[in-house]
Amino acid sequence: MSGELINGKEIGQSIRNELVERIEKLKKQGIVPGLAVILVGDNAASKTYVSNKQKTCESLGMHSKLLSFESTLTERELIDTIQSLNNDTEINGILVQLPLPKHITESAVLSAISPDKDVDGFHPTNVGKMFLGQETFLPCTPYGVMKLLEHTGIELAGKHAVVVGRSHIVGKPMGQLLLQKDATVTYAHSKTPDLQAITRQADILVVAVGIVNLITADHIKDGAVIIDVGMNRNENNRLCGDVDFASVQPKSSFITPVPGGVGPMTITMLMENTVQSAENKLRQDK
Ligand code: NAD
Repeated sequence: MSGELINGKEIGQSIRNELVERIEKLKKQGIVPGLAVILVGDNAASKTYVSNKQKTCESLGMHSKLLSFESTLTERELIDTIQSLNNDTEINGILVQLPLPKHITESAVLSAISPDKDVDGFHPTNVGKMFLGQETFLPCTPYGVMKLLEHTGIELAGKHAVVVGRSHIVGKPMGQLLLQKDATVTYAHSKTPDLQAITRQADILVVAVGIVNLITADHIKDGAVIIDVGMNRNENNRLCGDVDFASVQPKSSFITPVPGGVGPMTITMLMENTVQSAENKLRQDK
């Protein structure tokens, strides 16, 4: 068996093509979906992510607004900025690029974003709705992974899905979305004693840790579906995931590459959530 590539670049592009049509429809009704991105400080990786988000917005014909601040910005000033964006009719989505400087409390800032414009899906109200299976903005990375899995045509019901990593933005919501599709879900994390014993049981293995080559062929069972969320730099400064692709691919049935797997989906789902927010607004205003 040799794992078929799950091509996030292509799948993301086809979703973005559909978005262009939705955006055109909105424009005919006088709405240009708008995303505001807030960047605090000068973290190089954050700057790259923010610039990619802006470029993608523009390529789809959406409005994007970058608010860039020195790392000395106070929490109060940041929350005031968010509140003015909450009231800005040209803005449908608000994203605060993480991480924030240490003197700012992340949870206070994320809670200040109107749940109606929380296109990252991090507001406690939206997290609660997601856990209850109610319609809401889903966090972009796990949402993108679900789209990738959907594309493979694999039935998730009854499968054993193992999620390695339990962060608020990836691991935890990932497990919930898989559970909602009737998978049997196990979480593994930094305190899991025998990782291999758990991951070898996985029909579907999602890895979101941030350690180069954490998962090798010994960690997986034959025919498993492997989703690599990790985004790391190896010793040659090349972008790579958490999975040792060369050894794992031959044993898997499907596998995402890094780059070109989950990454392009995250940004695509952010655009999808922003378009959805604009459509919701139009419906409410009618
Ligand atoms: P995080 O640091 O918040 O969480 C890492 C998780 O890994 C923790 O829950 C921890 O318990 C677990 N962990 C740490 N060491 C472990 C070990 N030895 N064995 C098992 N579990 C272990 O990270 P995050 O924000 O969830 O991101 C994880 C990775 O995914 C990073 O590489 C990040 O860059 C990447 N990421 C990629 C995208 C994308 O779009 N492709 C989006 C978000 C994050």
